[in-house]
Amino acid sequence: MRAAVKNEEVRQGKLVSMKQMLREAKDNNYAVAQFNINSFQWAEAILQAAEEERAPVILGASDRLVDYLGGFKLIAIVIQTLVEEMRITVPVALHLDHGNSVARCKEAIDAGFSSVMIDGSHYPIEENIAMTKEVVAYAHSKQVSVEAEVGTVGGNEDGLIGGISYANPEECLRIVEQTGVDALAAALGSVHGPYQGEPKLGFTEMKQIFELTRIPLVLHGGSGIPLHQLHQAIELGHAKINVNTECLQAWAEAVREVLVNDREIYDVRSILTPGKEAIIATAKQKMKEFKSSHKA
Ligand SMILES: [Zn+2]
Repeated sequence: MRAAVKNEEVRQGKLVSMKQMLREAKDNNYAVAQFNINSFQWAEAILQAAEEERAPVILGASDRLVDYLGGFKLIAIVIQTLVEEMRITVPVALHLDHGNSVARCKEAIDAGFSSVMIDGSHYPIEENIAMTKEVVAYAHSKQVSVEAEVGTVGGNEDGLIGGISYANPEECLRIVEQTGVDALAAALGSVHGPYQGEPKLGFTEMKQIFELTRIPLVLHGGSGIPLHQLHQAIELGHAKINVNTECLQAWAEAVREVLVNDREIYDVRSILTPGKEAIIATAKQKMKEFKSSHKA
C-alpha cells in the first residue's frame, strides 16, 4: 500500500517531503543520503545514481549557494524538470540546507522546495525555537518538512568557521517538543569539510538525545567518517546523512586528471563528463554504505 502511494506521487513527477522517507529509514535502520548540488549537472548525476541504486534521495541546496545556482525558483524548476525528464521513480526531496532565516525558508517553500532546514543553531536556544516554530507552521501547511539544528558542526558551517559545540540533550528535547520539527541535526562532533584525524562522535550523548526525542536525527559532515561510526550513528537514530566533500573531491580529481593529461582539450563535455561519472560512483557507494540502496 505504501509503495503504491509512493509510486503514485512519483508518477505525477512530484518532489516529496523528507517526512515519510526519514520515518521509514529510522524504522528500518538505514539512512537516506543528502547530497549537495554544486551545479545542475551534479543534480543529474545524483538522480541517476539514486535511480540505479533504487534509493530514496535528498538533493540539498545550501543557502549560501542558492544565488550562485540561479535562485530558488530556477533550482526548483530545474530539479522538478529533471525528475520528470529522467523518469525518476524513486522518492526525491529538494531540501534547503542551512536555511539562514525564516524569510529564506519561506522563499524556498514558495518556490517549490519540498523540505527546508532552518539553522538557528548560532542563536540562543529560545530564539532558535521561535524561528523553527515559525518555519514549521508555514512549511507544514504546505506539506513541506523541516529540519532544525542544535549545537555547532565543526569546520566551515556554511561560512561560519568555528569549533565543535555539542548539542545539549535538554535543548534537543525542548526544540522537538515545542516546534513539531520533522528531523533534528544534533551536532555531536562532526565536521564540514575534511577531518583532521579520526572523527570523535559523541555516542553517549547521541544515545541520550535519541532516547529522549525519538526523532529522525541528521548527521552533517558525513564525508570521511569511518564506516563503523556511521553504522553506529544509524543504530542510534540517524536517518539522514549529509555528504558533500567526498563528491567534490571525486569530481575535482576526475576533472583535474583530464586537464592535466591533455593540455589541448577544450571541449566542455569531454572535460566534465568524467567529473559527472565520479559523482555517480561516489553517490552510489554512499547509498550502499548507508544501506538505503534497494529501499525505494
Ligand atoms: Zn551541514
